[in-house]
Amino acid sequence: MTKKIFWEDPYLTQIETRITSAKENDITVEQTIFYALSGGQERDTGTIGNSRVLQARKEGKEMVYTLENGHGLKSGDQVTMKIDWERRYKLMRLHFAAEIVLELAYRNLDSIKKIGAHIAQDKARIDFEWDANISKEFPVLKKETLGIIEANREIIGAFSDEEKEERYWEIREFSRVPCGGTHLRKTGEIGEIELKRKNIGKGKERIEIYIGENSI
Ligand SMILES: [Zn+2]
Repeated sequence: MTKKIFWEDPYLTQIETRITSAKENDITVEQTIFYALSGGQERDTGTIGNSRVLQARKEGKEMVYTLENGHGLKSGDQVTMKIDWERRYKLMRLHFAAEIVLELAYRNLDSIKKIGAHIAQDKARIDFEWDANISKEFPVLKKETLGIIEANREIIGAFSDEEKEERYWEIREFSRVPCGGTHLRKTGEIGEIELKRKNIGKGKERIEIYIGENSI
């Protein structure tokens, strides 16, 4: 299995690792900082050796990376792996903004149901089953979300079941939520947020979340 350093230290942008298999353009490595699409959070971009990573996927406990033609890597090679940190950090900040908005939506809105979520580099979205215009709830959701961001609360990330690779995040006296994403250390890193509403069909509402350039 691939050792997943992106959980132990989501702030690492470069590591030395070793190729453990290479089948045409698909390779596996001993340890990785390179996240594959999971839980709605988009994958990283970056390089392994001198090659761009074109695709990343999780197969069981193994991470498989597809490289460009002519990468020239073989099993046993030592390589440097680098990720695009600007992109990853935006994904992490948007991901956690979405985590807080979702928790507060559950808390404030009786029987609301999440039906989807996606975290991209420019915005995050959460889709709900909800019969009213959800933007009516934005003043409260935004105020409470900013309250948690401004309090700069510590975010704990750990395994609930290491064997099954099940993880959670926790803010003490706020919430503990199962999630295998890459999480921030402190809520203040999110900075300013903006919420926008989209109606995506009868009884379905989308909240789009945007963040500013800077942390608090
Ligand atoms: Zn998460």
